[in-house]
Amino acid sequence: MSLFKHKEKKKYIPKQWKITKNCLDTILECGKSEFPNEFGGLLRVDMESKDTIIEIVLLPGTISGGSQAIFKLHMLPIDFSIIGTAHSHPSGVPIPSRADLTLFDKYGKIHIIVASPFDEYSWKSYDYSGNQIKLEVV
Ligand SMILES: [Zn+2]
Repeated sequence: MSLFKHKEKKKYIPKQWKITKNCLDTILECGKSEFPNEFGGLLRVDMESKDTIIEIVLLPGTISGGSQAIFKLHMLPIDFSIIGTAHSHPSGVPIPSRADLTLFDKYGKIHIIVASPFDEYSWKSYDYSGNQIKLEVV
């Protein structure tokens, strides 16, 4: 019910985004299991603090293989618990491509790229303009 209490949309941007270890591990696992193809999914935050990523929502039909951006904007839901995207770079370089930057700019606030070998060091997080930001693992 509290969801509907406030009519105005608050522009609340947390200083520090967080992700649960479990969720990060799942993203890395997805990257590993789809390798050498790309995988893509959406990041869901907990609805209380709205700053902790707790779930990766996989989108059917997003995997195209190769190294092209895999998100079709018209497929992306309008859902306030979704705050960004995660996808893999099988190439091993977790740096956004031009297509990634276009997507980041249009959708979401935080984006994760995981790269092979999909370990705890082979991922990075970015804001909407492609600046690398810190994501605390909790
Ligand atoms: Zn990419």
